[in-house]
Amino acid sequence: MDLLRPFHMLIDGEPVSGDSPLPVVDPATEQVFAHAPNCTRAQLDRSVAAARRAFPGWRALDIERRRALLEQFAPRVEAARDELATLLTREQGKPLAFAQRELDSLTRFMRGQCRLTFPTEVVNEDGPQRRSVTRRVPIGVVAALAPWNFPVLLAWWKVIPALLAGNTVVLKPSPLTPLTVLRIAERLADVLPPGVLNVVSGGDDLGPWLSAHDGVDKVSFTGSTETGRRVMAGAAATLKRLTLELGGNDAAIVLPDADVETLVPALFWAAFTNSGQVCVATKRLYVHRDCYDAVRDGLVAYAKRVVVGPGLDPLSQLGPIQNERQYRRVLDLIDDTRRAGLTICFQGEVPAGPGYFVPVTLVDNPPEDARVVTEEAFGPVLPILRYDTIDEVVARVNASPYGLAGSIWGRDEAQAMRVAERIESGTVWINETMYLSPDAPFAGHRQSGVGVEHGLEGLLACTEPQTITLKRG
Ligand code: NAD
Repeated sequence: MDLLRPFHMLIDGEPVSGDSPLPVVDPATEQVFAHAPNCTRAQLDRSVAAARRAFPGWRALDIERRRALLEQFAPRVEAARDELATLLTREQGKPLAFAQRELDSLTRFMRGQCRLTFPTEVVNEDGPQRRSVTRRVPIGVVAALAPWNFPVLLAWWKVIPALLAGNTVVLKPSPLTPLTVLRIAERLADVLPPGVLNVVSGGDDLGPWLSAHDGVDKVSFTGSTETGRRVMAGAAATLKRLTLELGGNDAAIVLPDADVETLVPALFWAAFTNSGQVCVATKRLYVHRDCYDAVRDGLVAYAKRVVVGPGLDPLSQLGPIQNERQYRRVLDLIDDTRRAGLTICFQGEVPAGPGYFVPVTLVDNPPEDARVVTEEAFGPVLPILRYDTIDEVVARVNASPYGLAGSIWGRDEAQAMRVAERIESGTVWINETMYLSPDAPFAGHRQSGVGVEHGLEGLLACTEPQTITLKRG
């Protein structure tokens, strides 16, 4: 089938074209290679109205009926895995094997999310005269907005918990990476009653329209902290419920007893997977002075062998940056590091010619207040920082306004655990990174977010409690 056959939005159960095309750029070539529909204000209003109309019927269904319908999602995505992965690589840039991994991760999450259940209703007995039951009810219309780094996973993993809980949804992918999300919607279009799930794509106006829309009851947003603040402000007028998964500046701490040789590849990929465009990538690497030189030299040696290139080339291990704006930002951060006279201990190769390719860049022990340390690079740039004591490193790590995730690396598990417990972030890994589960809450502390996704708490965040009290006699 033609990979780039026309793309449609899903509004009220129908495929809908936009009034104008939204160009989508391949970051490996810098060329427009496809067009998505560009949703108009009227089409957005129609999709919110459809979601609102569909809400009472969907809410009234038994949760097991909803679950049975949603269980059809994962097999349908799997059946098109290879086509979807190729499309994802074209629009996002990541190597094909990583695009396939993103789709596999999505279907794993879809299955896991479908298994979530509510706790039993709480019954408060206050003598024979009165009986109170507290149950969980859906919120209403949920707007789901996603970024461009994991366009498929981060968009669709908002959908199942919201729908399972009885809400209806309007999903909007990033204007930069709308295609794979739309193609998945096409495959799922006939599973649910019309209006229960709507998917719209469009330019820079669409996000603010949707997140501030009067017909929306909850906004679930993943993106930058800066945009998160705007979403929160837009939600204030009608007091919308909010889940915000925002930026981070995750630290990895290598303890003095770490096994450097086995650690180096894992540390490299913790920072550079998806060319560093991961919310939970290691963005600051703190290494104890006893093993600092060995870790730095090991990373330099490893980085020399890593191939940066177009995602469709099977030899590429890292692809381009997804878009021009972010590409320029990351290059500016590297220039600023150089201008400040800091030591760049390694800078890799990039292919000649077009494409938003940024070389793998390692910075040797910059000061704590350097931009490359304090800012979320969201690109293939890693500062390596030397520390002397645990108290000192914990204080340096926690001095960030972010609190998304972090990791601890060492042989002594008990010690690593004690350090992990002192890190002020929503997720901490020991001797690995990036493992997320549909059963475990994922929450950004501080300016990394508001609310929770995944696990029982993530499901409950798609609901409100309702207490019904019956007075007898
Ligand atoms: P972004 O904030 O620029 O955009 C995210 C989405 O918001 C896009 O779809 C955009 O169109 C839309 N948008 C823009 N203005 C809006 C508004 N006023 N109201 C509603 N929507 C609006 O983020 P990005 O550049 O696409 O993604 C990169 C950022 O996302 C990084 O900071 C990264 O750390 C963060 N991120 C966080 C997580 C997490 O789970 N915490 C996951 C991935 C990425």
